[in-house]
Amino acid sequence: MKFAVLGTGMVGRAIAARLAQLGHETVIGTRDVDATLARTDTDAMGTPPFREWQQGVPGVALKAFDEVGANAEIIVNATSGQASLAALEAVGTAALAGKIVIDIANPLDFSNGMPPVLSVANTDSLGEQIQRAYPGARVVKTLNTMNASVMIDPARVPGQHNVFLAGEDSAAKATVGALLADFGWPAGAVIDLGGIRAARGTEMYLPLWLSLWGALGTGDFNIAVVRGQH
Ligand code: NAP
Repeated sequence: MKFAVLGTGMVGRAIAARLAQLGHETVIGTRDVDATLARTDTDAMGTPPFREWQQGVPGVALKAFDEVGANAEIIVNATSGQASLAALEAVGTAALAGKIVIDIANPLDFSNGMPPVLSVANTDSLGEQIQRAYPGARVVKTLNTMNASVMIDPARVPGQHNVFLAGEDSAAKATVGALLADFGWPAGAVIDLGGIRAARGTEMYLPLWLSLWGALGTGDFNIAVVRGQH
């Protein structure tokens, strides 16, 4: 299939590389292609400059947000949560209409330093904001509750652990579920939480995720939901 992955950070890169490895035609979206390719710094998380990463995945093209949507069958939102609506606006309403939008973003506001706070919570979520802004899009919230490396390689965490789906469109969720299987997620690991409103809970888990990251000293962990037999 043809994928457009919005986001040049560690999530966009991880997803794009995995999609390309699986044989999907994949482009990455950014604000400004020249500016992204001109970066030379490794960021605070140790993420190397985009150009350096791209040399290892020659099949993945980098394009501006407003150029990636038209040809894509599925769009992945892996942009900063504070910027996701702006990035999707640049992709354009027409390019998003009828498409599955896999939303991995979390509405984390780092403007007052660490730890970040949620910019939307309780009565709304970023996933719902995206679905409301683009009613023609088929938004599926998923993968936002774990580190980028676990998203595309769940075996990094031993045993049975879980990934969530939330969205209004059952067929879209089935397509995304099949993609998760290709990423290595066993069928029993995928929990469909229902409509896009359930994005609230998955996004509000992030403060706990951040505390666990600090306590465990690694991002290689995940939620394992254990169900009683009664
Ligand atoms: P990030 O640093 O959160 O986001 C990078 C992307 O956001 C870049 O493509 C950047 O565009 C875009 N962006 C930043 N400001 C923008 C603006 N004003 N307008 C338009 N676009 C803008 O990268 P990340 O760490 O890969 O995370 C991506 C998303 O996944 C986030 O929402 C994050 O909360 C979520 N998430 C991350 C992890 C993880 O392991 N890091 C795990 C779960 C969920 P340019 O390409 O132009 O710079």
